[in-house]
Amino acid sequence: MNTVLVYIGLGSNLDDPKRQIKDALNSLRKLSLTNDGVEFSRVSSLYRSAPLGPQDQPDFINTVAELLVALDPLALLNRLQQLEQEQGRVEGRRWGERIIDLDIILYGDDIVESAMLTIPHIGIAKRAFVLLPLAEIVGGELDIPGVGTLTKLLEECDCGQVNKL
Ligand code: ADP
Ligand code: MG
Repeated sequence: MNTVLVYIGLGSNLDDPKRQIKDALNSLRKLSLTNDGVEFSRVSSLYRSAPLGPQDQPDFINTVAELLVALDPLALLNRLQQLEQEQGRVEGRRWGERIIDLDIILYGDDIVESAMLTIPHIGIAKRAFVLLPLAEIVGGELDIPGVGTLTKLLEECDCGQVNKL
């Protein structure tokens, strides 16, 4: 199949989050080395963000990585969930603390709406911890299908709770 440019949102707020993000980025890099249909390209700085859900949990460390993939969206989701589990992620409360969260933010220009997958990632328009790192690597002109340009979203978004490290 053709290759597609995808953006993965990484987040962690447990067990040395910076190390968890680094480990996950290394896993994504290894996928490319094994010729597994994934080529690692760009990655943003790290950002610190206040938790979205329950407030009695640590701040998150977030980043966004750009990958060139030759996997369909569901196969990519499966690989990411496998990586989450290998890294020790366990089921927890909704929007709660986690060792690692790997979300598909964008999959080319595709819009996907199925039981397993919503792409662009649901809530992207309001999540500064995704918009800021994404804008850092691609610039503000990027059009998020069905949502609008990154610049417009950033203007409308509360970015006060997200800080570049
Ligand atoms: P969240 O990231 O929303 O806090 P989880 O990481 O536990 O929650 O994911 C819950 C489910 O979200 C997954 O089982 C997956 O099927 C679904 N999901 C829907 N859209 C996406 C997406 N774009 N990227 C990753 N997971 C997604
Ligand atoms: Mg997730």
